[in-house]
Amino acid sequence: MQSFPMLINGELVQGNRTLNVINPATEEVFQQITCADESQFEQAIAAAKGAFAQWQTVDMQTRRDSLNKLADALEAQTGVFAELLTQEQGKPLAESTAEVGFSCAFIRYFAQSELPIETYQDDETSKIELHRKPLGVVAGVVPWNFPLMIGCFKLAPAVLSGNTFILKPPATTPLCVLKLADICQQIFPKGVVNIITDNNDLGHILSAHPDVAKVAFTGSTPTGKKIMSAASGTLKRLTLELGGNDAGIVLPDVDPKKIAPAIFATAFMNCGQVCIALKRLYVHEDIYDDLVHELSELANSAVVGNGLHDGVTFGPIQNKAQFVKVQEYLADAKDNGVIAAGGEVLDGPGFFMRPTIVRDVTDGCKVVDEEPFGPILPVIKYKTIDDAVERANNSVFGLGGSVWSNDLDKAYEVAKRLECGTSWINQHLNFGPTVPFGGAKESGIGVEFAQEGLLEYTQVHVINIAKQTF
Ligand code: NAD
Repeated sequence: MQSFPMLINGELVQGNRTLNVINPATEEVFQQITCADESQFEQAIAAAKGAFAQWQTVDMQTRRDSLNKLADALEAQTGVFAELLTQEQGKPLAESTAEVGFSCAFIRYFAQSELPIETYQDDETSKIELHRKPLGVVAGVVPWNFPLMIGCFKLAPAVLSGNTFILKPPATTPLCVLKLADICQQIFPKGVVNIITDNNDLGHILSAHPDVAKVAFTGSTPTGKKIMSAASGTLKRLTLELGGNDAGIVLPDVDPKKIAPAIFATAFMNCGQVCIALKRLYVHEDIYDDLVHELSELANSAVVGNGLHDGVTFGPIQNKAQFVKVQEYLADAKDNGVIAAGGEVLDGPGFFMRPTIVRDVTDGCKVVDEEPFGPILPVIKYKTIDDAVERANNSVFGLGGSVWSNDLDKAYEVAKRLECGTSWINQHLNFGPTVPFGGAKESGIGVEFAQEGLLEYTQVHVINIAKQTF
């Protein structure tokens, strides 16, 4: 067992409660750590509030340097973080290594971003400028599927724009985020970055607190709604990156064998536990059987096991509650469709389920209409493109969507009709620091990444000067 202290007001501190962290590949308590109680949440908020007065005046270059140091230190320990991430989250080591790399890339992107003053008018009579000021204390609340990367892509823009920050990882994957505490303590002035964890039970303190100016949240839609409600009392700024049920539409002109690997990878990455995974696949009737066959072959060849073991391509589901939930979707799939591949939960220990392809299923059942957030892909047959688009859009979610075709012009016309934050063509799940990302409908509010994402961590401040003297 190692010690994973929190970071409050520049001090590495133990929490007042204990928390068991379970390795989902073994179901063993892999680390016993401490987590914060209410008083420590209050301390973290007070520390961030106290540090804001000074940090907002610190020049941009100093903030940039701090973020670059953070990225360098994280990168230098890539192997350590990746192994820890696989142990707490479950994903294969190669995916964990990629997550550490992505985390560094996001930090470095924001480290070189600018917040220039924009001049709206400058003539003999007046000058009007738009400044971007920090908001104050920002809380970053993150989920268990990409805890390190999501934590980093909230921390970096918050701190770069002059806010102070509280980062709260989820109870089932707190370790990599807590491991950042040590690095952050050496880089940032006390109180600028605070890292605390809970037992998934104290996040509401951040959402409701009068001294927290913004919550940048990634997680489920039901939790997003609770945060929005709790935040209303103080009209807190919110970014909500929530659940999704992304549809992919495959046109009849593609070669099923050639296209199947890309579709499979985007549906099953991280065991399907990706907000922008492809979660419903609409396939034209002409190629339906062939594509189901190709996807099933890929599912059958997946090597399921402990992500630390060589050759494993498919880790466990991250936690017991999610494992149980996914089995309910599996039962629904069996009731409403035909299992073409997978469909089995493996004997324990470990929350393992084989990647599952469901065929002869259609809209109107849980596994198609809801977000299983696990290794199940329903494949739905369609006849006309209008019907496929209508069904793809018939969802409360609107995170991403994709169109797959050799006719890029035709695909483009279909992609424009999808009601979602991102439409991909001949790909899915492609994201990065330079491209704005956000959800439509109940998949979220606001945008992250790129300049648009950075601006959401700022308050518009107009300075309107009349060039006259009295
Ligand atoms: P979750 O909503 O259960 O928890 C996310 C975080 O919110 C955790 O840190 C949790 O402790 C905290 N939390 C719980 N209740 C809270 C409250 N009342 N107030 C404040 N914080 C609270 O989500 P999860 O199960 O960890 O993650 C899976 C979900 O996240 C899926 O729906 C997935 O689609 C979604 N997700 C969305 C995106 C995106 O960018 N849109 C990215 C990743 C995951």
